[in-house]
Amino acid sequence: MSATPTTAPAGATRVLVLNSGSSSVKYQLLDMAGGGRLASGLVERIGEQTSRLAHTPPAGRDGTGQEGGERTREGRIADHEAALKAVAEELAADGLGLDSPELAAIGHRVVHGGRRFTEPTVIDDAVLAEIERLVPLAPLHNPANLTGIRTARALGPHLPQVAVFDTAFHTTIPEPAARYAIEKETADAHRIRRYGFHGTSHAYVSRRTAELLGRDPSEVNVIVLHLGNGASASAVRGGVCVETSMGLTPLEGLVMGTRSGDTDPAVIFHLARVAGMSVDEIDTLLNRRSGLTGLCGDNDMREIRRRIEEGDEAARLAFEVYTHRLKKYVGAYYAVLGRVDAVTFTAGVGENAAEVRAAALEGLEGLGLSVDPGRNGVRGREPRLISPGDARVAVAVVPTDEELEIARQTYALVGAAEAA
Ligand code: ADP
Repeated sequence: MSATPTTAPAGATRVLVLNSGSSSVKYQLLDMAGGGRLASGLVERIGEQTSRLAHTPPAGRDGTGQEGGERTREGRIADHEAALKAVAEELAADGLGLDSPELAAIGHRVVHGGRRFTEPTVIDDAVLAEIERLVPLAPLHNPANLTGIRTARALGPHLPQVAVFDTAFHTTIPEPAARYAIEKETADAHRIRRYGFHGTSHAYVSRRTAELLGRDPSEVNVIVLHLGNGASASAVRGGVCVETSMGLTPLEGLVMGTRSGDTDPAVIFHLARVAGMSVDEIDTLLNRRSGLTGLCGDNDMREIRRRIEEGDEAARLAFEVYTHRLKKYVGAYYAVLGRVDAVTFTAGVGENAAEVRAAALEGLEGLGLSVDPGRNGVRGREPRLISPGDARVAVAVVPTDEELEIARQTYALVGAAEAA
């Protein structure tokens, strides 16, 4: 493909954000000139008979007269091309099609950028080839991301397309933190090192934490705990990431919904030699049948809390393994940073589960860390402090918004000059 645009059409301020998974596409259309989120949606089960597209139009545009009402399509959507065509049709029905003069660019979430991509990058053929070269490091994710990009380029050849990498924010991690202590030649030959993931969220949340404290990000040291279905911690010094808990893959670190997080690597040899499991079986065990699910059969923290209330011991143990691991990481990252200004919780569990926040920081008063029970119990969508007023270290809840951050980075790269 030739003549890939690198700047947005003059005056265009909207960014379409695409997150293409192996069988799903999530999307949001955001206006970067103050218009907020215009439309969003999800295509699920692509390639199956039971595909479904759920589209949330701009308020008042759904035909039902209700604000934010959903439009759905049921029935087979064969592949990503058909999925993105359907998304483009839904957007066009709202007057927001890909040919709209207000559309500035398409921003794509790309999971693995290796060491090569440290910044959001305008996509051209060479960049596509580089992302392709990284497929062995993210065999499930990068191919799906690539399919989404190729399809979007075909549908919107006049638009700049930008890749925003989950790993990019972590490329500043210093070598002693990024290296595993395994034979150097072997590690280098196979690109084995700590890459980290959820970087877009860690970047957004650490910056928003500084704003909440009324300080410049360059002055603030933050430990970010991103606790969704996947979970990761990061240590951010003056806006620069210096440590993170996920590694070569998203399997390392915290206990997650279905992933084990840290284990002794010898568990794998043991399972192979003693239990006779294959590498693929162990991969599935550690990625899909471990974590909270593996410990108690549930991965939803709401359900686990409900079971604990009923006296369920397996649920209690799962909760305690989860929060113990969190506490260990808070302590470790405190030591890495030396001085901590804030510990911030985000994503589904971090934003909603007050009990997890309290348990993770329990007993850390000696480090200046505590949670005010009244503040911790308040729910809301706004960034907020949950530490006592006189706390040495702020504890915060900051809802993450990866799509907004992808749109912001995309627009900053291709749209700002035109809009200025
Ligand atoms: P993903 O990693 O899939 O983006 P999310 O950040 O949406 O995940 O987090 C999903 C998880 O958040 C759920 O599995 C559940 O454990 C947790 N969660 C969501 N809402 C609540 C709530 N009200 N209370 C406790 N946990 C919640």
